[in-house]
Amino acid sequence: MARVRHDDGEPAKAEPAEPAEPAEPKAARSRPLLDGEAGTEEADAEAPGIRPQRFSEYIGQTALKRKLEVFVTAARQRGEPLDHTLLHGPPGLGKTTMAQILAHELGVQIHITSGPAIEHKGVLAGHLTALGEGDVLFIDEIHRLSPTVEESMYSAMEDGRIDLPVGEGSRARTMPFSLAPFTLIGATTRTALLSAPLRERFQILEGIDFYSDAELAKIVQRTAGLLGMPASADGAKEIGRRSRGTPRIANRLTRRVRDFAQVRERDRIEAEDAEYALEQLGIDHQGLDSIDRRLLSAILEQFEGGPVGIEALAATLSEPRDTLEDVYEPFLLQRGFLVRTPRGRQVTRKAKKHLGWSDGRGKGDDGQGELDL
Ligand code: ADP
Repeated sequence: MARVRHDDGEPAKAEPAEPAEPAEPKAARSRPLLDGEAGTEEADAEAPGIRPQRFSEYIGQTALKRKLEVFVTAARQRGEPLDHTLLHGPPGLGKTTMAQILAHELGVQIHITSGPAIEHKGVLAGHLTALGEGDVLFIDEIHRLSPTVEESMYSAMEDGRIDLPVGEGSRARTMPFSLAPFTLIGATTRTALLSAPLRERFQILEGIDFYSDAELAKIVQRTAGLLGMPASADGAKEIGRRSRGTPRIANRLTRRVRDFAQVRERDRIEAEDAEYALEQLGIDHQGLDSIDRRLLSAILEQFEGGPVGIEALAATLSEPRDTLEDVYEPFLLQRGFLVRTPRGRQVTRKAKKHLGWSDGRGKGDDGQGELDL
């Protein structure tokens, strides 16, 4: 099994690396969470065994898995590290999980950190010099690296070299340091957020898509089984189809439904248990939660159905723009509740219908604004 090192905010100690810039207070290094559960913190809280460890346990994404399995096998046969890999897709779809599987299948150690945690070149140098031959450095939210750190990354990725600061004051200079061959795996919610020079230095670029309801039902069944409260096929289907195409949400809902089922003294989750629990949790039949509904209602009620700019919407909802763009919008766009036009976001007829707005009249609507989709 791949050994995992999580970034605890302190760079691994490497002899020659002295931070070139002053370190910031430790609290500032904690990783921002877009949906309150993203990434490594959640992994720590997860029951053992829920996060898949091998390709065979990773449900769905068949085409992606097939390609990555070939790349891993080829790298192993050559005795070389895997090429630098960029994984992109909305939060909770399995980028971190896939990075861990890749390390596991390669038989190397994975070091996990994130863009905002690498505050200056010294921290990056600490991580890079701590890597063993062929190890994986996983950087989540890689689009949030600072420009100076990103620049240091280029020579590390291309030439296996990093310039380390040595000495102090007027005698300060940099010294090139050769790194062990390694694989950088970067994760980002959107490739467009990445600078072109960084993006071009990845040899493997792959996207992870939303999961189908059937795949999510399988994930629910696996998780429920591991949690000791099995789900019937219909029970798993009910949770799966309300999980916004996202395994992290499927796992979270499975845990909550399990609580309700347990208190109701069930020995397995049936569709009726799932329906009851999800209703209590405010998750509707389409998987929309209260923020989704607030977002769509705000566009309808305050912006006449749109188009509305993202900044205005974020201000109205008191939600960070990034959260709306990374967590909420992708699913609403994919399911046809929202469209993006050059002038902003606009609700669709489907959204209107879902919220119970009747054509031309509902809730004061004058029939303008929404798109006829
Ligand atoms: P990301 O890094 O894209 O935000 P994660 O890799 O942290 O997402 O995945 C979130 C959770 O969802 C993981 O803890 C894992 O248990 C589960 N998960 C993700 N992808 C899969 C999958 N393909 N099969 C089963 N479980 C998955």
